[in-house]
Amino acid sequence: MTSFQDFGLADPIARALREENYVTPTPIQAQTIPLALEGRDVIGIAQTGTGKTASFALPILNRLLQNRTKVQPKSCRVLVLSPTRELSGQILDSFNAYGRHIRLSSALAIGGVPMGRQVRSVMQGVEVMVATPGRLLDLVQSNGLKLNQVEFLVLDEADRMLDMGFINDIRKIVAKLPQRRQTLFFSATMPKDIAELAEAMLRDPARVAVTPVSSTAERVTQRIIQVDFTAKPAILAQLLKQEPVNRALVFTRTKHGADKVVKGLEKAGIAANAIHGNKSQNHRERTLAAFRSGEIRTLVATDIAARASTSTASAMSSITTCPTCRRLMCTASAAPHAPAPTALRSR
Ligand code: AMP
Repeated sequence: MTSFQDFGLADPIARALREENYVTPTPIQAQTIPLALEGRDVIGIAQTGTGKTASFALPILNRLLQNRTKVQPKSCRVLVLSPTRELSGQILDSFNAYGRHIRLSSALAIGGVPMGRQVRSVMQGVEVMVATPGRLLDLVQSNGLKLNQVEFLVLDEADRMLDMGFINDIRKIVAKLPQRRQTLFFSATMPKDIAELAEAMLRDPARVAVTPVSSTAERVTQRIIQVDFTAKPAILAQLLKQEPVNRALVFTRTKHGADKVVKGLEKAGIAANAIHGNKSQNHRERTLAAFRSGEIRTLVATDIAARASTSTASAMSSITTCPTCRRLMCTASAAPHAPAPTALRSR
């Protein structure tokens, strides 16, 4: 498959892709789109950055267009579950971008923001609903949303959802869905629990897998500095002052740890901002935007929040990571002006 034209997507979708400057499908798209267009369930092993969002969004939009039925109030035809608020927002943006010429109705249901607006946004019914599992269940349990009209289910980053403890929520949600539906299931890894979850949810699935986008080692110079635990904050500050770092991303294990690193850096005269689950959604979005634009130079993030910034990070010329592994500090800095992954743009 060398071109998007080969998929035979409907004109309004093909037009949106041309406007997005998508010419060549990525490997996960080349494999998944034809299967999903046929109506098959698919298990895809692919990471973020491989173009997997389009690999499920495009065939689903095409199939929605082929059979444009009226959505009942408080219902949706497509349900996409993702582990984080940021990823959910990005997925919704992608649906809206690819569906910009088909007057698509869509809504987002994520935690950290008041539920009232989300309830109102699905009152008339929407074609596409993107959600984190916890908030989706809240919506359903408060009678804000019914799941009996769902025709397409997507689980994105299933392994991540398992890590974050969403497995029971997912099972409860799936139990409320019609049996007759198409399910597209994506995970970066396939441990036993995930394979069992997929087995229970999918019907005769086709399996596709792609190799990860170029690994860190190919594009990034890495260094490990062995330090005493107590000296870590001072050495981090020193590194950030000495090294030619354009922008730095510092990872911590806990939210408290992230706040502590920010305080330590500020004390050393280095402006820094934290992003983690205790910060409001608004704050997280504003901070990420400021980091992307370069207004904020040093961002301290917990692992969870860090995922949302990986696409930003891929285009950065420098990254410093500092996991709270005792007595050990790891730094990795990309070669100056390292190219972003070819073919894929960072968001
Ligand atoms: P994803 O892995 O779905 O998060 O996609 C990563 C980035 O690649 C996003 O910014 C997409 O807009 C972009 N992208 C996905 N597919 C293609 C493609 N075939 N050509 C160019 N860019 C793409």
